[in-house]
Amino acid sequence: MKKKRKRYKIRIERLAFSFSVISMLILLVLNGAISIFSSSKEKINDTTLLVKSKPSFVVCIDPGHGAYDRGTESADGVFEKDVVLKVGLKVGQILENNNIKVVYTRKDDETILGSDDKEDLRKRVQIAHDNKADVFVSIHCNSYKDASIKGIELWCDEPNTKDELLAKYIQDELYKLKYTEKRNMKYQSNSPLYVLKNNDAISTLVEIGYLTNKDDSTFITSKNGQAKCAEAIAKAILSFKESIKK
Ligand SMILES: [Zn+2]
Repeated sequence: MKKKRKRYKIRIERLAFSFSVISMLILLVLNGAISIFSSSKEKINDTTLLVKSKPSFVVCIDPGHGAYDRGTESADGVFEKDVVLKVGLKVGQILENNNIKVVYTRKDDETILGSDDKEDLRKRVQIAHDNKADVFVSIHCNSYKDASIKGIELWCDEPNTKDELLAKYIQDELYKLKYTEKRNMKYQSNSPLYVLKNNDAISTLVEIGYLTNKDDSTFITSKNGQAKCAEAIAKAILSFKESIKK
């Protein structure tokens, strides 16, 4: 009886030992599975973050001219390069406030984009290309020898394109401000414009008014007029973005 109990005790001890070894193994396996699971979860989260941080819509704002290149000029000596820079920066600010990634071909009057006009234009397009811009908007003021000529003028690639749609949105929003007339749409296929012809982005060039016309000039050189033009252009870009989503 004594012998039997001892053997029985040894068997129980062996069983308990095997049980603890098995439980340890199970714990190790489970632990491994948990860490594999959690690391793959972390990886998924990282990818989600990467996808989220990649901007889905990039706008390139191109205030025309700059530095030595003054563009056109109003009768009282205001340069196109200064008017379009102020408007362009405001457009960008509004878009940035609406969570849109904005890149600028220039943000000040010192930036020299090229040693000559052609190189300057090539670099503007390159900035849009390097930043994978979806939309490129070049902002200018017009001029003409006949000072009675006024109006908003939009340029785009060809009729029935997304470029034309973007141009129309901008034209309509500016026209709603009622400071001037609306001129016919201009197509660069008839009269090539480097920044439109060589651009990968959906692109347009807007002439917000004639600096050589007194009425246009009074509005587009005023602080209030520039703010209104910027709001209109930004609103048009946002509406265009929504329209191409559908
Ligand atoms: Zn210009």
